[in-house]
Amino acid sequence: MRWQAYHTPESIDEALSLLNHYAGNAQIVAGGTDLILDVQQGNHAAPAALIDVTAIRGLDCIVEDGGWIVIGAAVTHAAIEANPLVRHHGAALAESCSVVGGPQVRNVATIGGNVAHALPAADGTIGLLALNAEVQVCTWNGVAVECAWQPLLSIFAGPGKNRLAANQMIGAFRFPVRAPHSSSAFDRIMRPQGVALPILGVAAQVQLDEMGRRAVAASIAIGPAGPIPFRATESEAILLAAPSLDEVAIEVAIAAAQRQAELRTSKHRASKEYRHEMVAVLLRRVLPKAIARAQAA
Ligand SMILES: Cc1cc2nc3c(=O)[nH]c(=O)nc-3n(C[C@H](O)[C@H](O)[C@H](O)COP(=O)(O)OP(=O)(O)OC[C@H]3O[C@@H](n4cnc5c(N)ncnc54)[C@H](O)[C@@H]3O)c2cc1C
Repeated sequence: MRWQAYHTPESIDEALSLLNHYAGNAQIVAGGTDLILDVQQGNHAAPAALIDVTAIRGLDCIVEDGGWIVIGAAVTHAAIEANPLVRHHGAALAESCSVVGGPQVRNVATIGGNVAHALPAADGTIGLLALNAEVQVCTWNGVAVECAWQPLLSIFAGPGKNRLAANQMIGAFRFPVRAPHSSSAFDRIMRPQGVALPILGVAAQVQLDEMGRRAVAASIAIGPAGPIPFRATESEAILLAAPSLDEVAIEVAIAAAQRQAELRTSKHRASKEYRHEMVAVLLRRVLPKAIARAQAA
């Protein structure tokens, strides 16, 4: 092996004091499906120690707590996909986690690793973003651990770069329980032989008025559509201002998303122009699905 020590702490305190002990020469690992490949492929120098967070008590739990669905950072995509609370309150997240890799990957890969790896197209991240999720960042202050909630988007610094400091880790994620007349959906376009990241992924959540016509809340997440996971805020504003969430409103919102998204050509996946078209294709699938679910709720 390329590292000298492999630790399996049972608490966040223990994990962060180990990180502190190695003074920047240790790395957190969960499922290892991003990190170990990165080390093997030479994209990431091998750290002296790996700190496996999957044995930490509570980090693998999903609970409802005070109006939030709280998901531990070490919960796997398979566990999220199958969880009744997530399926009911956050369909977009259940759907986005259900397409990550294949069953072997989903059984070990975690939502914490998906977010911490900070790729703008990461499926679980896009699902969380549309649900207005928050991330719990835990910090070792030299004496004890302090954990605080912050908006999910605040954790991303750029492609593959998060804003976590050397004395920090992700403890959990949370998103609000489903409001009345609201729902969400996710879909993506993947190359048939693709394994890791989609050409484009889109998640949306809408909350409707009592008549089921107007939007009183709307969020749209698209990836990759910029250096960090992207919220189509201009489309969201259009949906909120529309007298009815009909085809016309959806088409105007799509045009705004196409204007605002920073799409690029990637050698292995798709051209910028193709992605531009796929923004429309996916929003035409995802928005009506979220609206229909909200009307039926
Ligand atoms: C074959 C294959 C297919 C894949 N398909 C997809 C796909 O379809 N969609 C997709 O989005 N991804 C895909 N991935 C990428 C990967 O599986 C996911 O991003 C996964 O969620 C990473 O989680 P992990 O637990 O394995 O992370 P790890 O590899 O263990 O860690 C990844 C990074 O996160 C950090 N980290 C992990 N947990 C924490 C924490 N609690 N706090 C702070 N930092 C932390 C690690 O230090 C590391 O930098 C695929 C990967 C493979 C190998």
